Amino acid sequence: MLAYTYLERGRFALMEKPEPQILEAQDAIVRVTLASICASDLHIRHGDVPQAMPGITVGHEMVGVVEAIGPDVTAVRVGDRVTVNVETFCGECFFCRKGYVNNCVHPLGGWALGCRIDGGQAPFVRVPLANQGLSRIPAGVSDAQALFVGDILATGYWAARISQIGPEDTVLILGAGPAGLCTLACALLHRPVRAIVCEKDAGRRAFAARMFPQALMCAPENVEAFVRENSAHGGADVVLEVAGAQDSFQLAWKCARPNATVTVVALYDQPQILPLPEMYGKNLTFKTGGVDGCDCDAILREIAAGRLDTTPLITHTYPLREIDAAYDLFANRRDGAMKVAIVP
Ligand SMILES: [Zn+2]
Ligand SMILES: [Zn+2]
Repeated sequence: MLAYTYLERGRFALMEKPEPQILEAQDAIVRVTLASICASDLHIRHGDVPQAMPGITVGHEMVGVVEAIGPDVTAVRVGDRVTVNVETFCGECFFCRKGYVNNCVHPLGGWALGCRIDGGQAPFVRVPLANQGLSRIPAGVSDAQALFVGDILATGYWAARISQIGPEDTVLILGAGPAGLCTLACALLHRPVRAIVCEKDAGRRAFAARMFPQALMCAPENVEAFVRENSAHGGADVVLEVAGAQDSFQLAWKCARPNATVTVVALYDQPQILPLPEMYGKNLTFKTGGVDGCDCDAILREIAAGRLDTTPLITHTYPLREIDAAYDLFANRRDGAMKVAIVP
């Protein structure tokens, strides 16, 4: 089969590889029916992910059909349509039992697929610890609707959950890229009184406004004043920082009201400064990132019920054999690209 492969820093290529086989009792083989490209894939290509292994098939956002299972797989059967979780976790260690699956101590725990082991920008993928790593897609939910469940929707759902959004809250989301908009969609499930999105790119603000007409849009230049005017207590009750830009961490805490929760989802290139003297007395609660991707079944239920729909994020679709062009479009954000789907 043709698999999109990390060769060395700066180079991915389609390579002929053997189809994956069951190696462990908890493995499943999934025939990938739809995959997509994530910003993390670009980080691997740039050489910014030290644990990424040259030679692996990249891709960690995918849905498909179970082709084969090992003897200890009980959660899915051959023929099931499934989402694949970006995180591999055992379900049994101290952290897994608490729901902190991002910190699973299993040797494969954390982000393995498409990073340390072969991923899903290929026709088939081997999913280890498949009882935790796969979720059945309910009837009536399309591949496109389910495509982001295992990664960026899991991230948005988790971020909204740990932020404890209440019905009187004004929620500020920094960043209207794909992860920011998934976070917004999940924050809205908690029915806050108001959602404000701050995004520097005018095209992305317009995209977000079309997809979420109930949210207010602003730019980083005036976000502090805008949030003060559009909130009840001098700032946002909950801030979700999904931008990861140069100044977005500072904006996050400055836009928060006293005693607010600031949840940092973004992955930064650089260390960030926490200016404790300036924020003294503001009594903020900070929560920091690394998704615990254990809510996939709950997310699929929200999609099936019609309360969550991220299909508009798929702005482009390419066949696997044209994946170089798909990466080029996604990396350069040409033609209003938000997410690019790949059909193996
Ligand atoms: Zn990702
Ligand atoms: Zn574990």
